[in-house]
Amino acid sequence: MPSKRTITILGSTGSIGCSTLDVLSQLKRMQVAALTGNGNIALLAAQARISGARLVVTADDNRYRDLKDALSDTDIAVAAGRNGLIEAAEMQSDWVMAAIVGTAGLAPTLAATRRGADIALANKECLVSAGDLFLKAMRDGGGRLIPVDSEHNAIFQVLEENQRHALERIVLTASGGPFRTWTREQMANVTAATARAHPNWSMGLKISIDSASMFNKALEMIEAKHLFNVTPEQIEVIVHPQSVIHSMVGYTDGSVLAQLGCPDMRTAIGYALSHPRRPNLSVERLDFAKLARLDFEAPDEARFPAMRLARLAMTRGGVQGAVLNAAKEVALEAFIDGRTGFLAMAETTESVMEAMVSVPPARSMDDVFAVDAEARRLAGEIINRTVVAA
Ligand code: NAD
Ligand code: MG
Repeated sequence: MPSKRTITILGSTGSIGCSTLDVLSQLKRMQVAALTGNGNIALLAAQARISGARLVVTADDNRYRDLKDALSDTDIAVAAGRNGLIEAAEMQSDWVMAAIVGTAGLAPTLAATRRGADIALANKECLVSAGDLFLKAMRDGGGRLIPVDSEHNAIFQVLEENQRHALERIVLTASGGPFRTWTREQMANVTAATARAHPNWSMGLKISIDSASMFNKALEMIEAKHLFNVTPEQIEVIVHPQSVIHSMVGYTDGSVLAQLGCPDMRTAIGYALSHPRRPNLSVERLDFAKLARLDFEAPDEARFPAMRLARLAMTRGGVQGAVLNAAKEVALEAFIDGRTGFLAMAETTESVMEAMVSVPPARSMDDVFAVDAEARRLAGEIINRTVVAA
């Protein structure tokens, strides 16, 4: 019997983190090393007890005492804040599930990358913001990088590396989100409560709203470019409301290979953590007779400009991915707080991209963090100006 492999989950209390713990309970061959969360201390402490983690970390310095008290009768080590997150990422483990939401996940994921851990990557922001530098850190560290994002996991499953010469295109599927058929006038006044209601997938708040604005697909286009080393022209998006085909790869002989499944992230997580051997998972099976049909629609970049911005970021290259992501995160937080409108998220992001169009490419991660900070400052300024003007 081979010894158990160890895993650290960065962002264990989130949607992907909880699904990962569920998958681990099914795989039975992995042992948890460290877990990290943020404000949900009760859940984090419960997860630490059940999983047998050796270290547990809250990202929030102010909650250190609460977490420590919640685990006072155990010998589980407790830490907090940025340093705590890095400590968790650097602690020895075979695997790291990178499932913190947003740019906050970049520094800890990089720390895990540098020590050579195998990375199951849910945090797409690492690739959108740091792209080539992140991939270089992966190569230098020597670990494997396996995508967890369902589209990229699907492509990873059907992209035949020995047929690279014949790879023609990557087709990312998109559900279209809750506003798939809405006009821009209808979208103008929606609130976060409406925007978060995803038709197919159950996900965290931010990615759900990003799905409604199609910013999630925009990030995924940039993620795909880096992961699969393709040109922007080779990346297509097709709206597929049932979310059954998770993405496809087209070859020069006209063949298209797809990966299908129920919209359940546990399949992608299980595939990543068990690679190269498929696991046995208790998830719902597709019932084709019940499904009856699969629909497709061309994406509408006029109603959903986020995808146009992704193409702009990809063709411009340099730091434009980091700018797009940081400006979008600030606009998204303002939308969640009711300080800016749904359509303003793309407008703000585009304004910041234009203002930072001539920033030179990043040579180090410090450059990336500086660009991120400047894009956040500019986005905040634009949003405040509009709030004052309104
Ligand atoms: P979520 O909001 O449900 O969970 C986020 C996790 O990050 C939580 O554990 C939270 O405590 C932690 N966190 C939040 N802010 C933090 C901070 N400042 N510092 C450290 N930790 C912090 O998010 P999610 O839906 O699980 O998504 C996680 C990542 O996976 C995102 O990058 C998302 O784009 C990606 N992803 C998610 C799904 C999905 O189905 N949920 C699918 C594909 C990709
Ligand atoms: Mg996805």
